[in-house]
Amino acid sequence: MRGGPTTSRAINRRLILSLLRQQGAVSRAELASLTGLSAAAVTFVVSELIEDTLVVEREAVAGATGRRPTPIDINYDAHLTVGFKLHRHHIECVLTDLATTPLIASDVAISDPAPTAIIETIASTIPHLLQRAGRKNVGLMGIGVSIPGEINAATGVCLQSPRFGWRDLPFAEMLAERVHAPVWIDDDVNAFAVAQRLFGVGRQHRNFAALAIGAGIGCSLVIDGKIYHGSRSAAGKLGHTISVPNGRLCECGRHGCLMAHAAEPFMLDEWSRLTGQAIVWEAFVDAVQARDGTSLAILEDAGTRIGRHLADMVNLFDPEVIVVGGEAVALGEALLDPIRREMEARTFFANPKLLPDWVPNSWARGAAALAAQAVFDFESVSSG
Ligand SMILES: [Zn+2]
Repeated sequence: MRGGPTTSRAINRRLILSLLRQQGAVSRAELASLTGLSAAAVTFVVSELIEDTLVVEREAVAGATGRRPTPIDINYDAHLTVGFKLHRHHIECVLTDLATTPLIASDVAISDPAPTAIIETIASTIPHLLQRAGRKNVGLMGIGVSIPGEINAATGVCLQSPRFGWRDLPFAEMLAERVHAPVWIDDDVNAFAVAQRLFGVGRQHRNFAALAIGAGIGCSLVIDGKIYHGSRSAAGKLGHTISVPNGRLCECGRHGCLMAHAAEPFMLDEWSRLTGQAIVWEAFVDAVQARDGTSLAILEDAGTRIGRHLADMVNLFDPEVIVVGGEAVALGEALLDPIRREMEARTFFANPKLLPDWVPNSWARGAAALAAQAVFDFESVSSG
């Protein structure tokens, strides 16, 4: 990147890149009027960005009044990022372009949860992904890793991850040293929210919440276009609000957290307890789709509980919309209906829309977005 991140030149570059991300391709003249920069400044910055292969001139479309101005667009295809989402027993990996569009995806088993073993697995996966995509000689813009836990995204330190038993681990720095590329890390739900802000529902919203329901439950808040991390990187942990005093043991070590009573492991435990069937996620999804009464009752219970806590969040933060992701989105309206119903019954004023947006690679794409956002943001820090 030319100049320091705070020089006016760098700010103008990011201003133009952010605008192109939101608007799609526009002409130099439109860029000037939308940004308030002078025509000369736009021409200067755009030619620099073309030189750096960050933007590209698209084909001008001839109109009735003659030649149209050349549209300028982001050169999404020229830059690659890799996203890794750490699950308990496997790592979801995806190589994407700058728009976090997946080029190649893979899934790697974790045999050893030690940080060094996981870093080695990530490092050895990267060349395979590049090779399979036929992009072996392309430099990486950066690497994003999303980790369930409390992550200081600014310093790249994993403060704690109960799922992996990690504490105060400088994960980004360790991985950056191993792979010689910039590394960004964040909590997995925050990473999902970053992807939504850059290229999803959040492109149209400055204030929204990103709710994720999977192995855990989290609810990241995007306030005025920025992820709200909190003062100790622990904001958005809706899943650890107490729902049942002295209830089920949560992975955080406390009892009765919302996620212990409403996330995937709870649904499967209940399903197994009530039907005697093995704990298999796909079988549970099939039962829900077949409108099996027991499975629907479990979702009614879990959804009502989530909706109650979500209403508290809405009353505190008043988001424009709530995007919903995580594996549980596959359960569809059978889960979303009770969440929506209970939330609407308990919010005192606002009723933000619940917008499900989930495809199989969404977690890893979120991680890739951590690296992509560095191109568009005014403030972001990487290790490496
Ligand atoms: Zn907990």
